[in-house]
Amino acid sequence: MMQDIVMTGDRPTGPMHVGHYFGALKKRFEMQDDCRCFFMVADYQALSTHADRSSEIEANVIGMVRDYLAAGFDPEKAVCFLQSQVPQLTELTVILSNLVTLSRLLRNPTTKQEMADLNRQSSFAFVGYPVSQAADILMMRPRYVPVGPDQRPHIELAREIAQRFNNQFGELFPIPEGVYGEQFGGTDGGGKMSTSLGNAINLCDDPETIERKVDAMQTDPARVRRNDPGTPERCPVHGFHKGIGTDSLNQIEDGCRSATFGCVECKRKLTTGFDALIEPIGERRSRYTDEDVRDILQHGGAIARITAQRTLEAVKDAIGFNYAILQ
Ligand code: SF4
Repeated sequence: MMQDIVMTGDRPTGPMHVGHYFGALKKRFEMQDDCRCFFMVADYQALSTHADRSSEIEANVIGMVRDYLAAGFDPEKAVCFLQSQVPQLTELTVILSNLVTLSRLLRNPTTKQEMADLNRQSSFAFVGYPVSQAADILMMRPRYVPVGPDQRPHIELAREIAQRFNNQFGELFPIPEGVYGEQFGGTDGGGKMSTSLGNAINLCDDPETIERKVDAMQTDPARVRRNDPGTPERCPVHGFHKGIGTDSLNQIEDGCRSATFGCVECKRKLTTGFDALIEPIGERRSRYTDEDVRDILQHGGAIARITAQRTLEAVKDAIGFNYAILQ
């Protein structure tokens, strides 16, 4: 029986955090049992924000694959590879970039927000990275793309490009469906957890670091004293309890509203919840060495290149670039 194909990936710009775990990783690794999964580490795409720190990317790549393994990636079931191992992706990016206008790229709300966060002039590669991302996705001709909710505009663009290609050159690409996880807020109460914003609980954090980060979290600003009633919905700590699925959440909410449950106890309970989540993740990470990661990527890169070459040949054929005598 043909398995559905799943394709997704991440930019290796720092350690993976709890927001990644609930936003994308958990869902994607659950799909390994039933689908043919490709997980790509987008190292070329990391250059779009880290061109001046490119020497950091190798360590980030190794760390990211170890985070994948720790969070549930099984190299016996799924393929993990680097974007830079598959030159066919760059060729497909060039071809697909003819199917999207610059104004369409500049309207992308996620890219707009990232440009604002970058706080400097955006490079050509940065503005165009959603096209590169569309090529990465479409190359494997997937049915599903499990990603964080902030990636929705990019998935929409990949779908548009696939549709445009099919209309112009014939049906080649399945139109991929995004599978979206939950958005996780930051420890500073901000709308998005992000390593670069310094508001993340990382999957590799030790218990002392987690405790320190939870202690520093804001609570309901209206609950100044222990016996002031609180409003859980206004409290970032409550958001985390909800996000990680703390049991007896109703009791916490009732206790907060009636001022019978204090913020110190509430944070202690959250620290315990994070420890319970992250401890087994850390244990799984310790089973793999950097050498294991290199072996996994070498194997995965070879498989990804074979799949990519097949798609690229079909694409070239479709657009009339099959004059083999010149190649
Ligand atoms: S008891 Fe918990 S939910 Fe209520 S304000 Fe304090 S930290 Fe927030």
